[in-house]
Amino acid sequence: MKIKTIKKVPESAKNVIILAEKKSDIKHLPCEKVIPFMKEGFDKEEIQSVKTPKHNMYVVKTKGADLEKIRKHAHKIHSELKDKEEEIVVVGDNDKDLEAFLEGIYLSDYQFLKYFSDKDKKKNKLRSVKVKGISQKKIDELKNVIEAVLWARNLVNEPVSYLDAERLAMELHKKTQNDGLKVKVLHKKDIEDLRMGGLLAVNQGSVIPPTFTIMEWKPKNAKNKKPIVLVGKGVVYDTGGLSLKPTPHSMDLMKSDMAGAAMMAGTMDAISKNNLPVWVIALIPATDNRPGKNAYAPGDVVEMYDGTTVEVLNTDAEGRMILADAIAYANQYKPEVIIDAATLTGAAVRAIGDKAAIVMGNAPKKYLKDLQKSGKKVHERLVEFPFWDEWKDEMKSDIADMKNIGSGNAGMITAGKFLEHFAKHPYIHIDIAGPAFLESTQDYKGKGGTGFGVRLLYDFLKNL
Ligand SMILES: [Zn+2]
Repeated sequence: MKIKTIKKVPESAKNVIILAEKKSDIKHLPCEKVIPFMKEGFDKEEIQSVKTPKHNMYVVKTKGADLEKIRKHAHKIHSELKDKEEEIVVVGDNDKDLEAFLEGIYLSDYQFLKYFSDKDKKKNKLRSVKVKGISQKKIDELKNVIEAVLWARNLVNEPVSYLDAERLAMELHKKTQNDGLKVKVLHKKDIEDLRMGGLLAVNQGSVIPPTFTIMEWKPKNAKNKKPIVLVGKGVVYDTGGLSLKPTPHSMDLMKSDMAGAAMMAGTMDAISKNNLPVWVIALIPATDNRPGKNAYAPGDVVEMYDGTTVEVLNTDAEGRMILADAIAYANQYKPEVIIDAATLTGAAVRAIGDKAAIVMGNAPKKYLKDLQKSGKKVHERLVEFPFWDEWKDEMKSDIADMKNIGSGNAGMITAGKFLEHFAKHPYIHIDIAGPAFLESTQDYKGKGGTGFGVRLLYDFLKNL
């Protein structure tokens, strides 16, 4: 989809959407004749459709509407026009409202059609959005962020038949060409040399070797002296391993178990394309989790990258095994803060469903507050859970330093406490198991991979 700014609404514009706070804002209408009509109707509805022989117009009332409402209005209008019209013109006075509206349109326009044989037929007709009232610079920034979200969605929606651990690393590596973003992929031999026991253990049941991708964005004008390290769970497919997930349905969506990796990679793409002055490193450990070959087994003791020994009591708690190695690896950078994101626990989904992600950590309160603030702004909300040390005790093993599951209650927190053990620097854990993937379309977030977290972290890093 093309988005371009224009100076004047052309008289020939067929579909015009006006964001207006009050009646007098409707001056932009290309057709003078409808103004009297609009004056009468303005206060009635949040979205008003005005049809004249030449024009098809919508007036979106922004007074009293928060940004999320505007995004949802955009989704509604997009649904009406996507199959009918090639071009729409959007007019407004307020940057924030316009940005939210464009976000709604752009995100709603996402389709994952790769595997349809008649994809051309299925493709939305809408191709172009022209905007009056906002600078091209703002549009470019927004576009880069949204495209990073859509890329993250693609990665999540790709099945493991295409996107295995090696392909994921390749897809991330492609971003190397992108303006100074450095991407380095460690392969199985490197991972063995580093003795990343957690990642290697989970990979034992797979025929595809694991990968560990390091993405780094370090601009000269970075305002932070120590890097922010992001860690994303890249389990490209999760059967549960020998602790096999029960069928039916529980495995249907497990291609999405790398949504944390997609979130972090998407964030790196967005911040580098927009040249944010922050030093950020993303670590993406990746593998599938299968019961084949010499699969790791309940009862096994695994020596992790940092030397910690872990008794594996459930092979379906594999995300924390690969994340733990990556978090321990992050320590060498002496980071300001380590933030991981993962589709980690069913407990997180049961606690709050798909309307928010869960956040917890031992980092200074400021980081947790700022993350929540960004989450509210972009409507990728975070709910903070407690992170008390009592939960650590549940992770004690009879025969090793730790075990990989807790007692069954508060599973999202015991998982977080397990991971905290490996972080020697301020640490934040985000469980995105709920909002990362949606089984039905609610609004502009679409169906399938949502790309959750990219807009959130972009906003957080921009305002650091
Ligand atoms: Zn699992």
